Amino acid sequence: MSNHHGKEFLGFGTCTPQEIIPSFLVRSLFYPKVKTKNGIVKFAPYGLRKIEAILNDHFDVLTVHPFDIEEYLDGAKVVGISVMDPLGYGPVSVTFASLVNGTPTTRIEFLDLIRRIRKYDCKIIVGGAGSWQLELENFNVDCIVVGEAESVALDIFRRAVSGERLPKKIVVKSPNVDEIPTIKNASINGLVEISRGCGRGCRFCSTTGLKRQDIPLNKILEEVKVNLKNGTNGVILHSEDVLMYGSRLTPNEEKVVTLFRKVRELTKNIGISHCSFASVAANPELVEKVTEIIASDFVGVQTGMETGSSRLIAKYMQAKPYPFKPEDWKEVVVQAFEIMEENNWIPAVTLVMGLPGENEEDLAETLDLLDRVRRFRSLIVPLFFIPMETSALRNEKFFRFEEMKILHYEILRKCAEHNLRHLDSIIKDYMQGFRGIIVRNSYIALKKWFERRFREIDWKEVKRIA
Ligand code: SF4
Repeated sequence: MSNHHGKEFLGFGTCTPQEIIPSFLVRSLFYPKVKTKNGIVKFAPYGLRKIEAILNDHFDVLTVHPFDIEEYLDGAKVVGISVMDPLGYGPVSVTFASLVNGTPTTRIEFLDLIRRIRKYDCKIIVGGAGSWQLELENFNVDCIVVGEAESVALDIFRRAVSGERLPKKIVVKSPNVDEIPTIKNASINGLVEISRGCGRGCRFCSTTGLKRQDIPLNKILEEVKVNLKNGTNGVILHSEDVLMYGSRLTPNEEKVVTLFRKVRELTKNIGISHCSFASVAANPELVEKVTEIIASDFVGVQTGMETGSSRLIAKYMQAKPYPFKPEDWKEVVVQAFEIMEENNWIPAVTLVMGLPGENEEDLAETLDLLDRVRRFRSLIVPLFFIPMETSALRNEKFFRFEEMKILHYEILRKCAEHNLRHLDSIIKDYMQGFRGIIVRNSYIALKKWFERRFREIDWKEVKRIA
């Protein structure tokens, strides 16, 4: 529960294994404790705020930081925890941890939290995007809620408070949009959801099972106001593809522009969470219009390249390039990079390594695509394929470090080179106006350390062993 120094993307750092950076440094660089007032957190994860909004009218609810929780457990009946990556099975954690043979920090913190709560006589309910991970280890909590919990939260907590035995696991279907409450207190970095689900249906992705729905504009604006009133310095509009607000698979310019204009009337600090390369390439004018409204020199955004192989795109992500075709994927990506560069959008891009059935030609296509986007300012993060329970590929096998082939190492090397090429300029712009000199210098030092370690690697030897 951290605002990551007001820089959402630094949140990725929480997956860093403590074997490579000491725990105190991971904590202070990537997840300093969020501010509190009389013990109550000022900002909390967005999903937790949704559940809090539902429970508040019915129970005495306190939203507190995990580090402080023992102060509130005497007499507490139920602890609800919202998790992203509790046991470190998320793609970023698995990849980082496998490469250095370490333990993800998120796992260490979660196990410690549960150990401390267990000393008290209260029920534990775990929900959130990463709750499916607890099943992999048959983890002992009172109830795991998988899916969007709005329609069941009140009932589960009522039963828990009245001492009823809860089902070990509840899988929930998407609520209707009118069942989704408006948050009552500020979220981390002013995150405001503008739509849920994706609609492109990539088979490896955890959002595939969610119903695609847009949040009505009036509710979005209400949440923007809640955040600003409660101390956030702006908002981040969140969706799997912000350019797809109000539509499916091809952007609706009018709806997106209206949304951004209305939010801009309330705050001049607007960030965006995700977009798709396909939407960018399909409507470059929309990207320009949004950029004009946001009026920021640096728009950080997450997006997925996944692979350069049109074969894998057609097999697992048929609708990802829409309105373009799977065979156009590489062109779509390169065009989108160009458009983003022209508009100062800096993408943090993910790749998936080890999709089931991936072959050498697929990897060679990805390497070719990496060469073609080499010059664009961006970060590219290769991740191992994870068969997440909430995805359509849940029955496939995890991709393991031991299965890495020479071309996987080549992808790793290319991505690292790409990132090192652009990192100085990205850090400089991303951290502009950032007051924590020590923290900023620590990032620079960390980057230098990483660069030195990277240069020391004997890639010929690595490939020989692979
Ligand atoms: S486009 Fe992105 S968010 Fe949508 S289904 Fe594919 S991977 Fe998931």
